[in-house]
Amino acid sequence: MPTRRIFLKTTGQGLLAAGLSLGISETASARAAEDPESKPPAEKTGSVKWPYPIAYGKETVADVDVVVVGGGNAGCWAAISAARKGLKVALIEKGNPEHSGCNGSGVDHWQFAATNPCCTVAPEVLAQDAIDARKGYINGISRFIKSYEGWDRLQELEKMGMKIRDDEDEFKGAPFRDEKTKLLFAFNYRDNSVIRIWGTGLKPALTRECQRLGVKIFDRTMATSLLTEHGQPGNRVVGVTGVNTRTGEFLIVRAKATILTAAKPSRLWQFVDKLGISHHKPPVNSGDGFAMAWKAGAMFTMMEMSRLGTDPGVGMTGACSFATWYPCTLVDSNGKQVPWVDTFGNPVTSMDARFQAPAGQKRFFGGGYMDKSPGYKDPHTLDEKDIDAMVKKGELTLPLYADLPSMPEHERRVIFGLMVGQEGLTWIGYRTLARSGFDPNKDLLQVYRYHHTPDIQTIPLDGGGLVVDWDMRTNLEGLYAAGEQAYGTWGCNGSCSTGHWAGRKAAEYAKGISSVQVDQQQIQNEKKRVYAPVERASGVHWKDLENGVAKVMQDYCGSTKNEENLRIGNKWLGELNENEAQKLHARTPHELLHTLEAANIIHIGQLVVNSCMARKASSSMLNFVRSDYPLDDPPEWHKFVTVQQENGQVKVGELPIGYAGPLQENYLKNRG
Ligand SMILES: Cc1cc2nc3c(=O)[nH]c(=O)nc-3n(C[C@H](O)[C@H](O)[C@H](O)COP(=O)(O)OP(=O)(O)OC[C@H]3O[C@@H](n4cnc5c(N)ncnc54)[C@H](O)[C@@H]3O)c2cc1C
Repeated sequence: MPTRRIFLKTTGQGLLAAGLSLGISETASARAAEDPESKPPAEKTGSVKWPYPIAYGKETVADVDVVVVGGGNAGCWAAISAARKGLKVALIEKGNPEHSGCNGSGVDHWQFAATNPCCTVAPEVLAQDAIDARKGYINGISRFIKSYEGWDRLQELEKMGMKIRDDEDEFKGAPFRDEKTKLLFAFNYRDNSVIRIWGTGLKPALTRECQRLGVKIFDRTMATSLLTEHGQPGNRVVGVTGVNTRTGEFLIVRAKATILTAAKPSRLWQFVDKLGISHHKPPVNSGDGFAMAWKAGAMFTMMEMSRLGTDPGVGMTGACSFATWYPCTLVDSNGKQVPWVDTFGNPVTSMDARFQAPAGQKRFFGGGYMDKSPGYKDPHTLDEKDIDAMVKKGELTLPLYADLPSMPEHERRVIFGLMVGQEGLTWIGYRTLARSGFDPNKDLLQVYRYHHTPDIQTIPLDGGGLVVDWDMRTNLEGLYAAGEQAYGTWGCNGSCSTGHWAGRKAAEYAKGISSVQVDQQQIQNEKKRVYAPVERASGVHWKDLENGVAKVMQDYCGSTKNEENLRIGNKWLGELNENEAQKLHARTPHELLHTLEAANIIHIGQLVVNSCMARKASSSMLNFVRSDYPLDDPPEWHKFVTVQQENGQVKVGELPIGYAGPLQENYLKNRG
C-alpha cells in the first residue's frame, strides 16, 4: 500500500499548483526561470511600442465560394468538407486555428461515436435517448448527425495524425479497453459510445488538413459583421467583414455561402478586472457570431437557458469526480469518502457500479451532461447542495481531496496520465503538478469546489443558438451554422460532425450560385463603426463597459427572473448601447478587438434578456426560473421559443419541439 500524502499540505511546491487552480497564472519569476526568451519584469513594464505595423482602414478583399467564421472544431471541419468539394474556401479565425477554440489546448473524450465497432447501442437509439433525456430541449438534427457520423470524423482525424488508440498497450487488460481495436472507452463501460482520445493533437491536425486543401486562412482576424444583399437585415447573406487584431487592417470577404462557427458566448455575466476575463471557456469565444447574426436578422432559440456560472478565477482545472476526472473517489479532510449515488439516489457501493446503469435505468451518457435529467444521470458523487448539507452537519470536513491512490491502477493512470494530460486546460495543471513532484500513486489533490453565486450565470455549452434546418442552414439564405453556434449543439464530436455536414451543404448551395453583390454603403458603415474607438482620443475603456454589462445581467437576469426585472435590464442594456458603447476608446488593434467584443456582448445580453421575457413559464430542463410564472414546463409552453430582429423590433415566435420531423428518416434522406 502506498503511503498517502496530502499533496498541498506536504510540499511547498504544491502552492504553485494551488495558484493555478485559483486562476492565478504562474508568477513572472517562475515563468522567467523556465523561459529563456522571457525578459526580466522591469523591461516588461512601461510604455511599449506596438510591435506590428498599423494599417487601420486599409482593405483586403477576397472573393470565395464559402467563407467560414471561426476556426475551431466546427469551423475547421466546415472548411475541410467544403474545400474537398473543390470550392474556394476562406476561414476567418480570431486567433490561430492551430490552437484556438475550446479544444485549442486539447480534449480527452469523444462522445456519442455510436457507429464505432464496439458500441453496443444503435446510433438512432443513442440519439433519441439523449433527446428524450432532455425532453426535446436539444437539437435533434445535430444529435442524429453526431451519433451517425462521429466515428467517421474520428477515423479521419486518426489518418490526419491524431492518436485515438492505445497502440503502445499502455492499458492492456483494462476494463475500458477493447483488446482488438485498442480503443479506450470512458464513463459507461457497457455502451462504449465515448472514446478516450489524445486530443492535444486535434487542432494541429485539422489546421494541417485545411492548409493541405488550400483553404485561405485569415488568422488573427476578428469577423465583425455579416454582409447582406442590398445591405438589409433579413436578406441573403453574401459575406463577412473583419479586422486584423495585429495590424488593424480591414477584411471584406464576398462569399456565396457563409458558415458561422464562432461558438457560444462565454463572458456575459462575469467580468473581474483584477483576474482578467475568467471563464473555463476561451475568452475569445465572446459570442461575436451571435451578435453578428442577431444584427442581421437571424433566428435564435433556447437563449433563455442558462446555468450557474463559476465565480471568476475558479475554473475547471482542478480535481473533481466528473468528466475528465470520472470516476475518481473524493475524500474529506479526515479521509472519509464522499458517497456515490445513482440516478435514483441509491448508494453506489462498488467501483464497477460507477460504470454501468443500475437496474431500472435505461441509459446514462457520462460527462455529467444529463445532470438535470431525472432518470438519466450518471452515477455520481453527491450533488454540491448535498455535500454542503453534510458539511453543515459536520458529516464531511472541508477541504475535499481527489483520492487517486485508492483508485484501481488502470483508472488512476487513465485519469491522471491520459485524461488530465490531454484535456483542454487541465494539461496545464498536469504539467505543473508533474514538475512539482506530484505522485498520483501517493498524493491526494485538493478539490477546488465551485463557489456558485446565483446571480452569476453562464450560457451553457448545450444552450441556445441559431435555429437550423436539416442543411444546418439558418432562416437567412446563404447563412449556415455549426458547432456551438447552432442551438443545443456542443461537444467535440458534435461540433466536428456538424461542421463537416454544414460545410458540405453550404458547398452544394454555393455551387448553384453564379455571383453575389455586396452593398458598398453597408461596408462603409461597418468600417466607420469598427474604427470609431481608435479615432477617439479618449473615452470609455472596454473593461468598464464589459463590467457594466455583467452587473446588469447579474442584477436583472440572475438565476430567478421576473418580467419587471428583465424589463429594467433590457432598458439598461439599451442605454449602455446608446451611450457608453458609442464612446469606446482603443489604443491598439488588440484593444480594438476587446472593444468590439464588449460592444457585441451588449447585443448578446439583449438577445438573452428578450428570450427570457418571451418564455412565460419556468422550465427545469432549461434551468429557467421565472418567479412570476412558476409552473415547470406546462404543456402550452413545451416548445422552442424563437426570437429575431425585424425592422428594428424583437419578433417572438415558436417552433414545435418536433419541428425537425421524423429524425432517423430525415437524417438518412438528407445525409447525401
Ligand atoms: C476546456 C474545455 C474542455 C472540453 N472538453 C471536452 C471533451 O473532452 N469532450 C467533448 O466532447 N467536449 C469538450 N468540450 C466542449 C467542446 O470542446 C466544445 O463544445 C466544442 O469544441 C465547440 O466547438 P466549436 O467549433 O463550436 O467552438 P470552438 O472550437 O471553441 O471554436 C470557436 C472558434 O471561433 C473563433 N472565434 C470566435 N469569435 C470569432 C470572431 N469574431 N472571428 C473569428 N473567429 C472567432 C474562436 O477563436 C474559436 O477558434 C470542452 C470545452 C472546454 C471549454
